[in-house]
Amino acid sequence: MTSIKNTIHRKGAKGTLKRMTKLITRYGFSSSKMTKNLLQFSKASPAVTWPITAKTLESHYTNIPKAPNVEYAVHGCIHVDYSKLSAETLKKHLHKALQIFHTYNINVCGFRAPYLQWNNSDNNVLKSLGFLYNSSSSIHWDVVPEKYLNKSYDLALTTYKPIDANQKQSLPFIKNDVVCIPVSLPDDEILIDRLGIKDQNILFKVWMKILEQTNERGELFVLQLHPERFHLANHALANLIKAAKQKSVWVTTLKDVAEWWKTHANDGWPENYKSAFCITGDIDVMSIWDYRFMREDKK
Ligand SMILES: [Zn+2]
Repeated sequence: MTSIKNTIHRKGAKGTLKRMTKLITRYGFSSSKMTKNLLQFSKASPAVTWPITAKTLESHYTNIPKAPNVEYAVHGCIHVDYSKLSAETLKKHLHKALQIFHTYNINVCGFRAPYLQWNNSDNNVLKSLGFLYNSSSSIHWDVVPEKYLNKSYDLALTTYKPIDANQKQSLPFIKNDVVCIPVSLPDDEILIDRLGIKDQNILFKVWMKILEQTNERGELFVLQLHPERFHLANHALANLIKAAKQKSVWVTTLKDVAEWWKTHANDGWPENYKSAFCITGDIDVMSIWDYRFMREDKK
């Protein structure tokens, strides 16, 4: 999701007003819409990982589901572009984020950078804070029929700078003791918001191609489905989960994948599984008021 400041810069005042209306419709002035989405999402997924911004967690702790199949990860202390901050400031933010998670007794071992923007490439900061994994890099699959593609799609790829699934394997890798887990693109934001795909059957077909290819290649599919769009992709997700069960896919959390990879990187996936599928969704804000956590001056 994009901050208001970035939006004004990119879209101008008229575009910003349009986006604000959309956001109010999507989130509302209380967290009830998001809470409903989260509850339905957690019930629909055998396992799910939700990276959540720590300040958002702090403001809405009582409204987020706590269930054994749900893993939370750190999605920044606030929702800003961490690639623009110094390592020292970054460390301060993530230390504060961990304190917030610990205050609420939420065990956390993973990190995903807001906007998937990350430049602490040696993972020194994450390592020093004891993080097990970093799911901030991305990998792009060429799976969208050409007739849907547009400039906004290209712009997303320019921003995320994903590796190309035709060139590299979609697998975790270890850097400085931290397990790096790439997110598969296109995600829900690209398909629904940028390409305007509303037909869940098309969403399913696009993501199914990734599930099939990762399964054939013995690799990993990390889906990004932001909870605020869960109701726009719930049937697609249900069909993916059904297909995964039929194809010996390990449907699990990022934490499980990271723990497994740390000790079994050379052995492939656990016995009986051909590939892995992680359902993830970043929680940036729970209500429109949380946009205050998308500014650098809020610490
Ligand atoms: Zn985010």
